[in-house]
Amino acid sequence: MTSDTLFSKIAKREIPADIVHETDRALAFRDIAPQAPVHVLVVPKTIIPRIAEASPEQAELLGHLLLVARDVAAKLGLDATGYRLVINNGSDGGETVPHLHVHLLGGRPLAWPPG
Ligand code: 5GP
Repeated sequence: MTSDTLFSKIAKREIPADIVHETDRALAFRDIAPQAPVHVLVVPKTIIPRIAEASPEQAELLGHLLLVARDVAAKLGLDATGYRLVINNGSDGGETVPHLHVHLLGGRPLAWPPG
């Protein structure tokens, strides 16, 4: 059995968060330390630790997360100015919470390449 994570506890409403969107399989909530005017995390309700550990059977869920991020971006008014979706994987990738999440960042111009 997979142990709960910080984000699965948010999905179960055991830890508070500013939730902006929810589907049967995913939750979107504002990052506690926003790096842009809009910084939302989109997580699956089931625990996938990181993209490196996702299975082919989870392909539909992974696509769902991207479409939810797209829908949240539209809902929060980012379509005209643009936005970035990011998945951090492992230590060099900057992953700090072992529950797969898509970062949605927008509301200001974002530099490239990232640091
Ligand atoms: P990672 O570094 O793993 O890609 O992203 C984890 C993100 O989770 C970070 O941007 C961090 O600010 C955010 N985060 C960590 N703890 C909490 C929390 O308790 N609530 C919320 N809403 N975000 C959190």
